[in-house]
Amino acid sequence: MNSPDNSIRSYTRYPLSSILIYNGTTVLHFLLGGTGIILGYGSWIGNLVGALYLVFAFLEMYLHMPLKVCPNCVYYRLDNSLCISGLNVVSRKVAREGNIKNFPDRAKGFFCPNNLYIASLVIPIIAIIPALVLDFSFTVLAILLILVGLLLFRFFVIFPRIACIHCRAKNICPQAQSMGFGNK
Ligand code: SF4
Repeated sequence: MNSPDNSIRSYTRYPLSSILIYNGTTVLHFLLGGTGIILGYGSWIGNLVGALYLVFAFLEMYLHMPLKVCPNCVYYRLDNSLCISGLNVVSRKVAREGNIKNFPDRAKGFFCPNNLYIASLVIPIIAIIPALVLDFSFTVLAILLILVGLLLFRFFVIFPRIACIHCRAKNICPQAQSMGFGNK
């Protein structure tokens, strides 16, 4: 949606539909990823690795982000705001206000939140492929294809059309900058 001068509108409060699409796609990705690992490897190994992946993915997105990244975000301090994931509201309840200058730190270091976020999306895709080679199943193959589809949907639909393009943090966000959304 563009404003009268055709510039892309930045949201203080994202539409509920956008928040549901973003979180729905994320939760579905994590749950399918864990299920694919569990079914792919079977036995206690699949259960253990699948369970560890689910714990990692949900903690990284819904605890680590609001504790470490969101306090430095513009949405944390914007009155009556609701960001694409709604985590700014969670962050205000669990963390003290940070410094906007530190927001780009989310992309600094090997174990930075940005890399952990990407890892939570890519790990199940990489983990399921050997499982399919070892013990092929159409169910696990279907899960793998859906995961790849969800990843492509995130990068080619959610980020450019629903999330980053309307984000008030896009001019200081290294993720948005790397995808060319800053200054739009
Ligand atoms: S937009 Fe800001 S507040 Fe919302 S999840 Fe991203 S970093 Fe956190």
